[in-house]
Amino acid sequence: MILRKVMSERYLPRKCDYCGRYFVLKREFYSNCCKRPVKGQPDKCCRDLCHRKKFNDKLKTAPIWSVYHKAYKAHTAGRRKEGFKKRARTRA
Ligand SMILES: [Zn+2]
Repeated sequence: MILRKVMSERYLPRKCDYCGRYFVLKREFYSNCCKRPVKGQPDKCCRDLCHRKKFNDKLKTAPIWSVYHKAYKAHTAGRRKEGFKKRARTRA
């Protein structure tokens, strides 16, 4: 019954990359991590730390990523003026 409800509401069960526990994820939204608060850091959730962890890993393994990130930020800042619709379509 619970599974049926989950399926009908277009939620997907996923395992959190950060804490390893299962959570449900809306299909329109993609993330590898849940939104549970992190132990010892109540103002942070797994998702915050997960993204940072991955980003830091990238920085360590490939310094080019920091350059890319800066360029990407500048790029998206410029595009923001073009509005929501275009961004939604090109969302990767
Ligand atoms: Zn988690």
